[in-house]
Amino acid sequence: MTGSESLVRLADGTVKQVSPLTGTVVWTIPGRGGRPFAMPTEDRRVVDPETVNRLCSFCPERYVETPPEKERLVAGPDGPVLLERLPASRLSDTVAELRRVPNLFEILSVDYWRVNHGYVPSGDLLARASAYVAEPAGREQVLTLLARRAGATGLGAVWATESETEQLAQAIDLFAGTHDVVVARRHVVDGARFEDELAGSGTLTPDEHGAYLAFSVKAMAALYRSQPHARYVAVFQNWLRPAGASFDHLHKQLVAIDEYGPQTERELERLAVEPDVYTTAVLDHAAAHRLVIAENEHAIAVAGVGHRYPAIEVYSTSAHQLPWEHSDAEIRGFSDLLHAVHAATGAHVPTNEEWHHRPPSAEQPMPWHVVLKWRVSTLAGFEGGTKINVNTIDPFTLRDRVVTAIARLRGRGEVAMMAVGDECSHRRGVLKYTD
Ligand SMILES: [Zn+2]
Repeated sequence: MTGSESLVRLADGTVKQVSPLTGTVVWTIPGRGGRPFAMPTEDRRVVDPETVNRLCSFCPERYVETPPEKERLVAGPDGPVLLERLPASRLSDTVAELRRVPNLFEILSVDYWRVNHGYVPSGDLLARASAYVAEPAGREQVLTLLARRAGATGLGAVWATESETEQLAQAIDLFAGTHDVVVARRHVVDGARFEDELAGSGTLTPDEHGAYLAFSVKAMAALYRSQPHARYVAVFQNWLRPAGASFDHLHKQLVAIDEYGPQTERELERLAVEPDVYTTAVLDHAAAHRLVIAENEHAIAVAGVGHRYPAIEVYSTSAHQLPWEHSDAEIRGFSDLLHAVHAATGAHVPTNEEWHHRPPSAEQPMPWHVVLKWRVSTLAGFEGGTKINVNTIDPFTLRDRVVTAIARLRGRGEVAMMAVGDECSHRRGVLKYTD
């Protein structure tokens, strides 16, 4: 491939791609992409109504198995109600549509922030921790979780020799963490007959997905506020074990980190010289190659170019850049496209949903966007040796496949109204982030 062309189809049908942002090289060889992904499980377990709400630690009857909850959304007679900082004794009084809980096994621990950045938990957090463990139920939950964490990190023997006072002194770690998990209510879909009828992003209703996305955006803003040394909050959703999930129960993770990370750094460097690169190299390019999948007033979804895995990119077309600066309508528009893309993908396909936004302390404009990767192939020696990635589905095939599925779902009223495929405007300059 020569020059700046990032997407070429050769005479035999091979498609060669180069990512306009990262330079990743990807080839798709014809005849390798048609196989179905959804493999029926061989021995399916029938849903037992007695245990259906406690299939994993994220299920509604196992609320005490996560660290103390930060907030939850519950259904109320006049719409959803936010409940914050519930004591352990009240966790089971309501059913959470969505919960935000700390991750027990954080990527960056409270100690990391303490030792490397001089972080000191606020008086408010210390008061919350002591009030929580003052209740017998709260104390038991906290001690059980701290013991589990000590065991998993090889400190079980030390833990066993400590007095309860020493042990409880560590309780603050379960309240001051900045690696959160947003957990959706269902493990399996309503009325499921088998345990593999999992409730994923795409099986939610558009309203439920809208609430899930808005709740996650607010959680992200809350993490930036609560950890002053955070330079970036990474948001992602690993769906199914091949994609890195520990539980087959729908959840997103939000991780505050003290760097932007190399991917964002590279994009910021590019944006410094070419602020409109997302418009020219990504969206205009997608429109020119008919790779637009769906579009509404606030967002656009395209088949991504130059990804190791088949990837769909959803962009906010708003002038707002930071997710929490978007209006409710803009967040909902973004949610509707992301939901439709998930629904078109299907709950049996392992996926990584990766969020990208401008770090608040960076100057370069960057549009909020999410990349959904289908984890349907495994990298092998060829990729390692050549840095040429073989992806089984090229962007044109991916676009057609997802467009067909969304059109069908839209006809059944299972996704929101939106323009799909050829109905999209294919307008140039659709992003407003540089305005
Ligand atoms: Zn579960």
